[in-house]
Amino acid sequence: MTNLDPRSMIALAGFMSAVMAMVLLFMRRYYPPSIRGVGNWAAAPLLWLVSTVLFVVRGAIPDWLGLVLANQLLVLGSVTYYMGTRKFMGQPSTWRTWNWVLAGTTVVFIWLTYGWPNYPLRVSFFTVVSGVLYAVQLRFMLRHGGRNFPVRLVEVVLVLHLVVLAVRLGSIMAGNAGSDLMEPSLFQTLYIGAYVVTVLMLSIGAVLMATDRLRTELEHLASHDSLTNTLNRRALLQRCEDELERAQRYGNGPSIMMLDLDNFKAVNDTHGHQHGDAVLVHFAERTRQVLRRADRLGRYGGEEFLVLLPGADTEAATRVAQRIHATLAAGHALDCQVSIGLTSWTGSHETLDFMLSRADAALYRAKHEGRNRTCVA
Ligand code: GH3
Ligand code: MG
Ligand code: MG
Repeated sequence: MTNLDPRSMIALAGFMSAVMAMVLLFMRRYYPPSIRGVGNWAAAPLLWLVSTVLFVVRGAIPDWLGLVLANQLLVLGSVTYYMGTRKFMGQPSTWRTWNWVLAGTTVVFIWLTYGWPNYPLRVSFFTVVSGVLYAVQLRFMLRHGGRNFPVRLVEVVLVLHLVVLAVRLGSIMAGNAGSDLMEPSLFQTLYIGAYVVTVLMLSIGAVLMATDRLRTELEHLASHDSLTNTLNRRALLQRCEDELERAQRYGNGPSIMMLDLDNFKAVNDTHGHQHGDAVLVHFAERTRQVLRRADRLGRYGGEEFLVLLPGADTEAATRVAQRIHATLAAGHALDCQVSIGLTSWTGSHETLDFMLSRADAALYRAKHEGRNRTCVA
């Protein structure tokens, strides 16, 4: 097998790093600031790029640049990438421990370059440091990353890279370290090839993770009310239609509740619009807490809300309504009273329009009978 020239492969990695850094910098600029960590993800390939440049011109520059700094920039890039991942996943990103790690590894590198120059030991040490860094990153992602495709992709890349590092360490132990990184041999080719792929895949993984997050956020914005964070009218009616369609096939249809806060205009007039907004938010939070997982709460408009209760008959839905009345009478400063019109599925001929007009009529009755109560239609 013809071994590839290590120097060209490293140059290739540098080129890829530059391209990926550009993509990530672009994303950092144009993606919403709620998607955190992209700045770190962009900085990591830039550090790797500088490092590869130093590797490529090694020999023409002093060892403290071509060896010590080049290796340390690789390590720093990996830590930076890890910090980006932590930020992205909403975890604290403190550098304190890592500053010590970086300082410590720098001292060891300097020693293994000038104090006791030893190529196999230096390579082993770097391999172990990289392995620890990738293992830390992998462990963090397994714990906090969830199950989506981009996260899984990065995890697979990390596992594969760890395997390559283990093979490399094994080969050094077996005396196959070679005498220089630029020496074309099977192990060097394997190792540098893995490095090239990892650098590229980690950045692609970052792009995919950020894009996936953007899609989730946009979907949320399009389907939720910005004040109360409940479903908006369109999204909720769509859920209702879906549920009725399901019930038409399998039976066991839903109940629907229409809720209207009592004398809300007076709340606004007395305490101001902002207080009114806070009451709406409080109402939504409390109501959500007494609903089951499958139930859906949505803002129908103004101070009117709708609750979809899949598979709940009138009796079960009435109990939920009583829980809503009770939770809003707990003595909190933002508590309010609410009138509820409730209706349940009557069979496969049912339509959403029918159900909504029955719920509306029941709500009207609840208002007429003195408010702060539930009526069933
Ligand atoms: P009723 O018991 O008959 O329902 O009386 P009400 O005062 O609640 O009903 P009305 O329809 O007269 O008033 C609803 C009020 O809700 C009027 C409107 O200003 C207020 N409102 C609607 N949307 C919002 C909102 O997003 N924030 C605040 N603060 N008020 C809102
Ligand atoms: Mg109203
Ligand atoms: Mg009202």
